Amino acid sequence: MSTSPAPTAAISIRDLVKRYAPAGEAEGKLALNGVSFDVPEGGIFGLLGPNGAGKSTLINILAGLVRKSSGTAEIWGFDIDRDQRNAKRSIGIVPQEIVFDPFFTPFEVLEIQAGLYGIAKHLRRSEELLRAVHLGDKRNAYARTLSGGMKRRLLIAKALVHQPPVLVLDEPTAGVDVELRRQLWDLVTEMNREGVTIVLTTHYLEEAEELCDRIAIINHGQVIANKPTRELVGMAREKIIALTLDREVTELPSHPGFLKCEKTGERELEITYDKDRSNAGEILSAIQAQGFAIVDVTTREADLEDVFVTLTSQARSAA
Ligand code: ADP
Ligand code: MG
Repeated sequence: MSTSPAPTAAISIRDLVKRYAPAGEAEGKLALNGVSFDVPEGGIFGLLGPNGAGKSTLINILAGLVRKSSGTAEIWGFDIDRDQRNAKRSIGIVPQEIVFDPFFTPFEVLEIQAGLYGIAKHLRRSEELLRAVHLGDKRNAYARTLSGGMKRRLLIAKALVHQPPVLVLDEPTAGVDVELRRQLWDLVTEMNREGVTIVLTTHYLEEAEELCDRIAIINHGQVIANKPTRELVGMAREKIIALTLDREVTELPSHPGFLKCEKTGERELEITYDKDRSNAGEILSAIQAQGFAIVDVTTREADLEDVFVTLTSQARSAA
């Protein structure tokens, strides 16, 4: 999309620190505590973290809306301080909050935005963008008459007016219903296929897992993981076996291979084990050796949620 060649990373962040100014008695909040990572060009990158982790602070620094305390950030190879103009032209940002003048139409919203970027009339592509976000038939509707989903799609079109190679969406699906979430996921995937590098922040694990090819997890202003999604999910070493036994469990069986053994019903047990150290056969034999017959068995792998919980609790206890 951009005329300049792709740099090695779409976004490159080093040692980024943000301490908000103190308010009254309260000490300034350390929202980013030395964040470094690269967003590779061409993919969908997820910045995943709980509320208050520092995601919006980071995005707002890239957008030029919040001043960093220290560290550096480059967008498409342009330093956000030294080459502010080019950095700004290389990124489109979709904020979490929806704000429009209710009396403008979608077409006007895009034309005004194009004007702000100094794009000549004959180079504007408002019609094309409206069609791309499936709002072609709403060209002349007042913004106030659009549904929530349409407004979000219009915000995406607005962020793309200057054809940035990088599109950043801050919590695109926070508080939206399941159907709209699907629609937005499809739209993001479409934009990515057209060549736009996508960064999105989210606190939904499912969204990150489904949409992103790489995920950085941020917690208390620090990056605690940054890996291809498949690898991150694969970090879950734990497996869980659920068993139904032939009789009531009065005393919990134990074995060195069990990480956890829980009674989940009168005759039911859930046993967690490390799949690198043990296997289902060993676990089942251990139960049988204690005099139980096994009536039913199911297993499940730990998922991204388990990894997330493990990582964030480690970070807490290390702090
Ligand atoms: P996230 O987007 O991950 O939910 P934020 O970046 O919004 O996190 O917030 C990170 C931390 O910084 C939070 O503790 C939040 O309360 C604090 N914070 C955010 N904005 C401001 C501000 N303008 N002034 C002071 N503290 C802020
Ligand atoms: Mg936020």
